[in-house]
Amino acid sequence: MDLRQIYIDANALLEGHFLLSSGKHSKYYLQSAKVLEDPKTAELLATALAKMINEAGIEVDTICSPALGGLLAGYELARALGARFIFTERVNKTMTLRRGFEIEKDEKVLICEDIITTGGSALEAAEVIQKLGGKIVGFAALANRGFCKIYKENKEPKAQCKLPTDKPFFALGNFEFEIYDPSSCPLCKDGSKAIKPGSRGN
Ligand code: ZN
Repeated sequence: MDLRQIYIDANALLEGHFLLSSGKHSKYYLQSAKVLEDPKTAELLATALAKMINEAGIEVDTICSPALGGLLAGYELARALGARFIFTERVNKTMTLRRGFEIEKDEKVLICEDIITTGGSALEAAEVIQKLGGKIVGFAALANRGFCKIYKENKEPKAQCKLPTDKPFFALGNFEFEIYDPSSCPLCKDGSKAIKPGSRGN
């Protein structure tokens, strides 16, 4: 599967000069919601991810996604795996399980995001599930930003990766972009101004 081409075809791999939530600048931005706006593409991606998880022999009762980014990918993955789907959300910045969702003791839960950058939100969702008695069996995302190590990938995770190394992480591919400090950003030096994705309707 050519994940990059699927993102390009869906106008989900944006090129420009972006201010990321981390405060850094980048020439590229991934907008996974654009890939997932076509349910057929979402199904195709989720089916490929489910195949990886099944082939690894991981049993999953429930998919849990941190809202908002992971919802569509997680829901489609749950459908492909025949699993239940729940989500966590932030309340006053704290990740919580609400809306009457419950976790059984030792329920096998896999956390699904759209993109894993450092995996911070995915880890917070996992901690919520564990506190309620669930068992985390792995992590999944459509794409990895190159900081974490995909299952069976022959490399070490970078220091920024927050996902636990004793759990498998499944993803369909890597998008590794250079990220710049504003003070040394070559795009800024060329005279353009970084825009925050979303501020112009994207
Ligand atoms: Zn810049």
